[in-house]
Amino acid sequence: MVRGPDLIYGGDMARFHALPGRFDGVIAGTPCQDDSRARRSAPTGDGDRARRQFAQAVTEAIPAWWLLENVPGVPELRIEGYSWLRIDLDARDFGSTQRRLRHFQYGHARGLVPIVTRRRPAALKESPCCMASEASRPGRRTWADFCELQGLPRDFELPGMTLTARYRAVGNGVHLAVARAIAAAIREARAPVGFRLCACDCARVVYGRRVLATAACRKRVQRRRDSAGVTAPGSVTAAASSVTDQAALSAGASLSEGNSSPGSRQGRDRDPSPHSAIRFFSEHPPP
Ligand SMILES: [Zn+2]
Repeated sequence: MVRGPDLIYGGDMARFHALPGRFDGVIAGTPCQDDSRARRSAPTGDGDRARRQFAQAVTEAIPAWWLLENVPGVPELRIEGYSWLRIDLDARDFGSTQRRLRHFQYGHARGLVPIVTRRRPAALKESPCCMASEASRPGRRTWADFCELQGLPRDFELPGMTLTARYRAVGNGVHLAVARAIAAAIREARAPVGFRLCACDCARVVYGRRVLATAACRKRVQRRRDSAGVTAPGSVTAAASSVTDQAALSAGASLSEGNSSPGSRQGRDRDPSPHSAIRFFSEHPPP
């Protein structure tokens, strides 16, 4: 096992080759600007390229699981031999005062699912998000305040980096509590037997015929479906989620006792598990 802070390779990801079977998991946060709704310039292709390189690294390393952090608009990353699911986490649900959504895609070779536990209640106060651009903004928050808002120690150090680069690194980062929550969920990942994950991709557990965990989940699915209806052309993700979300909404007509028939969703994705939110991408299911 390799520990996070240890630099094992400081080179170009495109030239990285992993030994098979040496890593438990492979994690990346590839450039998200091309898939971000905030994008104002022409796409660079960097995001697509990095995702391909990440998939290549997973295919070579053959880890038990992989995790890719990005923005909700990112195309699906299906890697042969792994299950696939999307997870959306808002920093506010984990003790942060920032309303900041982080989007993950996750795959497991045996189809285990991470169940994310939220901290209740959400913070009352709300702070503007820590963005990478804050370094060059007038009236920027102090470095110590900026770090604290991302869950880091006030005296957090990033040696050898300019102040602008440090703000960018921490602003682009995932809030520490969110990172810890997903790490804990991956560590405790379970086979989806007797439960499933909420169809809104919040990684909450639902039991029985339920499809969506909370009223907010239902609103989210409805909202996503509405926006997919408007922006579907050119967006594989939006089009695909519109189909699954429609299935979720009709299957879970009521949150508590839906007339659930998630079979269509499973059939569409050749899902061998009883889990509706998990989708295997493989012609050959793992043993
Ligand atoms: Zn949900």
